[in-house]
Amino acid sequence: QATIIDGKKIANEILKNLKAEVEDIVKAGKRAPCLTAILVGDNAASATYVRNKMVAAKKVGISSDTIRLPTETSQDKLLEEVNKLNNDEKVDGIIVQLPLPKHIDEQKVFNSVLRTKDVDGFSASNFGLFSLNMCALAPATPLAVHELILRTGIETKGKNAVVCGRSKNVGLPIAMLLHSDTHGDILGMDATTTICHRFTPPDQLTHYLQNADIVVSAVGIPNLIQAHMVKKGACIIDVGISHVKDPSANQFKLVGDVDFENVSKVASFITPVPGGVGPMTVVMLMKNTIIASRLNSS
Ligand code: NAD
Repeated sequence: QATIIDGKKIANEILKNLKAEVEDIVKAGKRAPCLTAILVGDNAASATYVRNKMVAAKKVGISSDTIRLPTETSQDKLLEEVNKLNNDEKVDGIIVQLPLPKHIDEQKVFNSVLRTKDVDGFSASNFGLFSLNMCALAPATPLAVHELILRTGIETKGKNAVVCGRSKNVGLPIAMLLHSDTHGDILGMDATTTICHRFTPPDQLTHYLQNADIVVSAVGIPNLIQAHMVKKGACIIDVGISHVKDPSANQFKLVGDVDFENVSKVASFITPVPGGVGPMTVVMLMKNTIIASRLNSS
């Protein structure tokens, strides 16, 4: 039976350390770091994500603000808002919550965020530095996966890792952290890493997974990863989040990509959903905001 990696507990421990860091910044006579979110449209899940980030900021002592814009906001207007925040010296970190309405080019908006305020790490300049392992601000979810693996003491060097999902914000940067070496700004994990995606045939997905010591799934398909696909003793990190109807309670519940109940019987470590990668992602965003405040004040 797998050990459950308690993301919430680890996240709370890190939050305490971050709170102490913010207190030190304030004691040194500087203002507290400040995080500003831009929320476009009325997507309920996005509003919840932003709220959770603001609650975490408050716990750490980071000041925060949310700018709400209507769905019909033009791309130019959004770029103008980002630019105002870029020029506001009281703002250290800027996040533009995804998804954006269809008429807006997400990457164009990310690229408009000043590199030193880009706490999501989605801008081309930060992502480029990240690819070269020279980055101060890497994307929060990949950092969350990285931190969970490190803190759990899972051996990665020379091991086989499979990442399911190749999105630019989640799957790809996770794979980059897993495969890279330990000589840069962010410690890589030296694993032999395979990326599977929507065009990986199901039998090949099973083939790669059965050989994987570490599996990170970032897809958004419930029960994609089943027990027969997993190597005995593997470490399973479930990034996926889907809302599915819970027939017993007649309401929606959150589930990951992994058949948790059965895969737990085969794996050695597993993250739950909720309570695994999610809370850690929020904490890594706070960490990035503190780093950004140092970059902006230096
Ligand atoms: P996305 O839709 O951009 O990417 C999904 C990826 O899954 C794509 O690269 C696609 O090729 C791949 N895919 C689709 N079908 C597949 C299959 N059968 N086998 C293997 N790969 C397949 O989504 P995203 O933004 O990368 O997010 C992925 C998941 O992670 C979502 O469920 C999202 O809600 C969740 N997420 C969680 C956190 C967190 O903090 N826990 C943060 C970000 C995203």
